[in-house]
Amino acid sequence: MKHFFQSFYGKLSILFLVLLILMGAAQIWVTIKSTEAFYKEAEQTLNLKLANDLIPDFEPFLEDSIDYAGIKHMFHYMMVINPNIEIYLLDGKGKIMAFFAEPNKKVQKENIDLVPIRQFLNEERESLLVGDDPRHPGSKKAFSVAPINIGKDMSGFLYVILGSEQFDSAIEMIRQRYLTSTIIRGLLISVLVTGILGLVLFAFLTRRLRNMNSVVQDFEQGQFHRRADVATEDEVGQLAGSFNKMADTIVANMEELQKTDKLRRELIANVSHDLRSPLASIKGYLETLQIKESDLTSETRREYVDTILNVTNGLEGLVDQLFELSKLDAMQIQPELEPFSIADLVQDVVMKFKPVADKSNIKLEASLSDQLPQVHADIGLIERALSNLIDNALRYTPENGTVEVRIENSQKKVRVYVSDTGYGIKQEELPLIFDRFYRVEKSRAKATGGSGLGLAITKKILEIHQSNINVESKVNEGTTFSFNLDAWRPAFS
Ligand code: ADP
Repeated sequence: MKHFFQSFYGKLSILFLVLLILMGAAQIWVTIKSTEAFYKEAEQTLNLKLANDLIPDFEPFLEDSIDYAGIKHMFHYMMVINPNIEIYLLDGKGKIMAFFAEPNKKVQKENIDLVPIRQFLNEERESLLVGDDPRHPGSKKAFSVAPINIGKDMSGFLYVILGSEQFDSAIEMIRQRYLTSTIIRGLLISVLVTGILGLVLFAFLTRRLRNMNSVVQDFEQGQFHRRADVATEDEVGQLAGSFNKMADTIVANMEELQKTDKLRRELIANVSHDLRSPLASIKGYLETLQIKESDLTSETRREYVDTILNVTNGLEGLVDQLFELSKLDAMQIQPELEPFSIADLVQDVVMKFKPVADKSNIKLEASLSDQLPQVHADIGLIERALSNLIDNALRYTPENGTVEVRIENSQKKVRVYVSDTGYGIKQEELPLIFDRFYRVEKSRAKATGGSGLGLAITKKILEIHQSNINVESKVNEGTTFSFNLDAWRPAFS
């Protein structure tokens, strides 16, 4: 039950019921008041001439002097015949001169306000006109009034209150009964009919909110697959839609974070591993040199020192690559775009690798047409990317193979291909080779000295040029890497 009062539906229902009861009571009050006013006005309209009609009955008691006893008797007589009225004789200033009252009843007012009386006589009555009630100072009643002569040279008014005290108490009794039963009946009908209908309607309308609440709670508890039902386009539907989008974003961010975290851990593990092996090797050679220095020939010593230098160079290369990758990741490296001849760059890089290719008996060639446009890119970074690809191609191609750099010119782009006739990469490995530290065959990569960072760096370089790298490969046939660069179009062309 406590849960019900705390729920949105509970609060809404209670508020609705309270409002319903208040509205019902207000409606009853307004109805009673307007019925009363209607009754009084009808009565006044009906008895408009009543005072006037009574004048002939009173004149005989007022001809020479005022016959108070006769008048009172007449008042009493008439009030008995018509208990709905009370009759008063007023002088010209509104002072009460004669009335009839039961011994225990008191007339408390001495003067009657003349303003409504004058309005009545001047026929300024538009709706109900009320005047003072002598028995209840402060309360106003419908009345009828007519001027009357008192004696020879005095004039006054015959003032008739419609709805006497006796009548009022009778009406009050009836009203009490009617009022109570009307209120109870009215409230019962409104609470039962409207209330039940309203509560059913609220339950229906808030059901979607409750469903959404349960989805949000489940999501909070870790059920990240839960989504709200977007059945309508109203505010609740929009809210559900927004929640779903927010949930999708949260899940995507979480996955991204998990991936980054996994990558970071792998990176640390790989870096430590890749640093440990060369360090161990350097340490081993240095210890041998230290312990057996005198036993070693100068030739062996030089051999050891050369090896140490080689391994140190490898280490330096690894650290440089790591540093470069982290700068690319942190967006610290921004490409300095400039127009340059891609054909010239390819020639230069090919020339740089020529000795390595010759050493491994691999044919390294550049197929370039004459009509190549300039490209708009960072020459240093593109040289780096190209070098990585050619370096890989040479390392993963056996003797007597071929490595070719080719350039194709399409509309606004220039496409660069680096293909080899090497070992190739299995289809399932293709999406992974751009991950940092990923090597297809660890042992072979080790033998060829790869760190597993080259392609990650190349991919990053092309990403910051708003381009991407593509790879196609067949095992034992060869591999082709390719990427686009923006062709340079001078403003005047
Ligand atoms: P690595 O320094 O080990 O070459 P890369 O990131 O440059 O690292 O390459 C990742 C892996 O992709 C390599 O270990 C290799 O197995 C594979 N790979 C890259 N280029 C080629 C290629 N031209 N032919 C065959 N395998 C390749």
